[in-house]
Amino acid sequence: MTSAKKRIVIVGGGLVGSMLAVMLGRSGHAVSVFEKRPDMRRTEISAGRSINLALAERGIQGLKAAELFDDVEPLLIPMRGRMLHPLNAQLEFSPYGQRPHEVIYSVSRGELNKTMLTEAEKTQNVSITFNQECTAIDLVHRHTDFFCHNTGGRTREEYDILLGTDGANSVVRDAVVKSVGGTWRTDWLNHDYKELTIPAGRNGCYQMERNALHIWPRHGYMLIALPNLGGSFTVTLFLMKTGDPSFERLPDGERLQAFFREQFPDALDLIPELNDDFFTNPTGVLGTVRCSRWTNGHDALLLGDSAHAIVPFHGQGMNAGFEDCRVLLELLRANDWNWPTTMLAFEATRVANADAIADMALENYVIMRDTVLDQRFHLKKLLGFDLEQRFPDRFIPRYSMVMFHNIPYDSVKQRGVIQEEIMEQLIGEDKDLTKVNYALAERLIWERLPPVTVS
Ligand SMILES: Cc1cc2nc3c(=O)[nH]c(=O)nc-3n(C[C@H](O)[C@H](O)[C@H](O)COP(=O)(O)OP(=O)(O)OC[C@H]3O[C@@H](n4cnc5c(N)ncnc54)[C@H](O)[C@@H]3O)c2cc1C
Repeated sequence: MTSAKKRIVIVGGGLVGSMLAVMLGRSGHAVSVFEKRPDMRRTEISAGRSINLALAERGIQGLKAAELFDDVEPLLIPMRGRMLHPLNAQLEFSPYGQRPHEVIYSVSRGELNKTMLTEAEKTQNVSITFNQECTAIDLVHRHTDFFCHNTGGRTREEYDILLGTDGANSVVRDAVVKSVGGTWRTDWLNHDYKELTIPAGRNGCYQMERNALHIWPRHGYMLIALPNLGGSFTVTLFLMKTGDPSFERLPDGERLQAFFREQFPDALDLIPELNDDFFTNPTGVLGTVRCSRWTNGHDALLLGDSAHAIVPFHGQGMNAGFEDCRVLLELLRANDWNWPTTMLAFEATRVANADAIADMALENYVIMRDTVLDQRFHLKKLLGFDLEQRFPDRFIPRYSMVMFHNIPYDSVKQRGVIQEEIMEQLIGEDKDLTKVNYALAERLIWERLPPVTVS
């Protein structure tokens, strides 16, 4: 229980807003969530963006802190590594980690969100009102205005604490940043995405390896697929907006079929509704939100994509948002539920971390679509695993630090740069690892990498 109960308004009942509602409702606060869209538990609506997501350690720790993990676990499909689909070559499986628990999980965005909304309501401290779009915020008089998409009516809501979890196009962000003279911007990527489906085979069987994240890397663009419960895969094509090849160059079914036949022949065989999917589903845009201030230092705070939307190539946007929730809860408890102190402490650590994962997510696009095909990438991956076994407290491959640990992202980024330099020095011009000088490795690692302090 908390020392002083507050009226908390959460704008946005997506993944992060619904997790926050569970945490705060369970802590005894009166929480009102306002969500623009209809109730996804009662209306058949598109999940919005990606249909399924990769959940990793940071997200799992958030779910555990909210006491939600047991409810979510049945929805999870382990993915143990990348299944690469090179053009005109054998499939190649590359494990993500080297320990049995080092896997990531595919989870349905819709089912995850629905589960958290229901668990929030079960706390009996949380009310969720759907079809309510926040249109204006008055941070001075502490109220928010909503437009109801059902009735066309407008309402005003007063709050003690305002939490903005209204996603990449946040309205709360505008108000908060303006109030403290901060800045924000969206850096749009030159690549868009399109979701397609590989349906389940006969009797609900998976038509490709179930426990893997499939990638068709094609230098400059790629196709990926994540498994769903029930045997299907959600496939996403990431491709440039313009140029060759690009979405612009795929204006009709004929050219689309020819492109897939040439570049993704094995996938084409498994996507019977390619033309329908492609020309019916929206083309999604991708961008990075960089926002200098997340709080007014009193009673309003941004979390999740409203503060730090990132490109999806490290599968970390939701994970980072869930980590926000866990860190906020820990700080609130440590500060005896003093909100201003907590909000400022939260901002002080999280902004740099968000910037770091934003950068690493952009880098990972190049790794996924290009670098995974390089021999040197494989050498470094093997060496990274080897060094991790020899020096587990100091050397952890960067992908593992992001996906299987809770080491702050900015520290991961800095350590990653040093590790890369060490591995480059150890491999030199060699084509294999037979000549690696482990005495030098030990010296460099002890000199340059302090022990990892957070697991
Ligand atoms: C193609 C793609 C793939 C992705 N894959 C992964 C992945 O594998 N792993 C991962 O961790 N992350 C992934 N992400 C990122 C992830 O989707 C986001 O980081 C996550 O959804 C952020 O959650 P959120 O609650 O902050 O924002 P959102 O999920 O965007 O939720 C915001 C909510 O606020 C509501 N809202 C918006 N405006 C208003 C308003 N004015 N008033 C009231 N309500 C409002 C919206 O309707 C929505 O429900 C992916 C993203 C994309 C685009």
